[in-house]
Amino acid sequence: MPWLGLGVFQMQDGPEVKNAVTAALELGYRSIDTAAGYRNEQGVGEAVRESPVPRDEIFITTKLANGDHDRAMEAFEESLDRLGMDYVDLYLIHWPVTGKFQKSWKVLEEIHASGRAKAIGVSNFQIHHLEELKQDSAMTPMVNQVEFHPFLTQEPLREYCQSEDIQIEAWSPLGQGQLLDNAVLQDMAEKYGKTPAQILLRWDLQHQAVTIPKSVKRHRMQENADVFDFELSAADMQSLDALNKDHRFGPDPDTFV
Ligand code: NAD
Repeated sequence: MPWLGLGVFQMQDGPEVKNAVTAALELGYRSIDTAAGYRNEQGVGEAVRESPVPRDEIFITTKLANGDHDRAMEAFEESLDRLGMDYVDLYLIHWPVTGKFQKSWKVLEEIHASGRAKAIGVSNFQIHHLEELKQDSAMTPMVNQVEFHPFLTQEPLREYCQSEDIQIEAWSPLGQGQLLDNAVLQDMAEKYGKTPAQILLRWDLQHQAVTIPKSVKRHRMQENADVFDFELSAADMQSLDALNKDHRFGPDPDTFV
């Protein structure tokens, strides 16, 4: 799984998402994160099909929507149809819908066994959800995609996932853009000759978190991908960690579904 991908939440299906995915692939991105709930799988699929980059060099993630738990297999097949693909690289349960996700996980296991999702995982699962899942499942989720940035460092969850061999993937790594004017971050950006966004994304990577920043602008995509040529010191990692205030820009998984 690539360490960096393009998130396409809130991109309009059609030209907006298509142009963004096309630009990302041209710039060297090899991972795209969509979801049935984003309603733009079709545009993602078109851009991938029209790209000169072979399908097997691109990592496609999509997700089971909250309203589809009682028809998970059908919903997955509809996602494949909209994407125009015969497999995805990663299929995730988007949110831990209470009383439903255990049954859906068995469907994901079946999908994985059929080869139509090369990997399966979850999103927005807290430790207690993962513990509950573990009680009655054959496979451990390979990935847990959660909100993760210096205002929400998720330390217990990250430790738990590491011990269970579950890869953490960071959503809203830039705090939906709202973290970028933080003073600590801005000082650090100046010190490293990088931008605040690059510091945040580098922080993800050094925490072994896969990261999927969203932008529709080519120059920002380029900026966000340029994070492999420097390293934050241990002290600077700690200064960023110290910004934690368990603040969520997105919904709380314990109250949202
Ligand atoms: P993000 O933290 O990636 O921030 C995106 C916003 O930051 C953009 O709209 C843009 O305005 C701004 N931005 C991007 N690059 C910038 C740069 N270099 N300089 C200045 N501003 C910049 O927010 P996000 O879209 O919420 O999260 C990223 C992806 O994570 C989503 O697109 C989606 O794929 C995924 N996601 C998943 C879930 C989930 O429940 N699993 C929830 C939210 C998001």
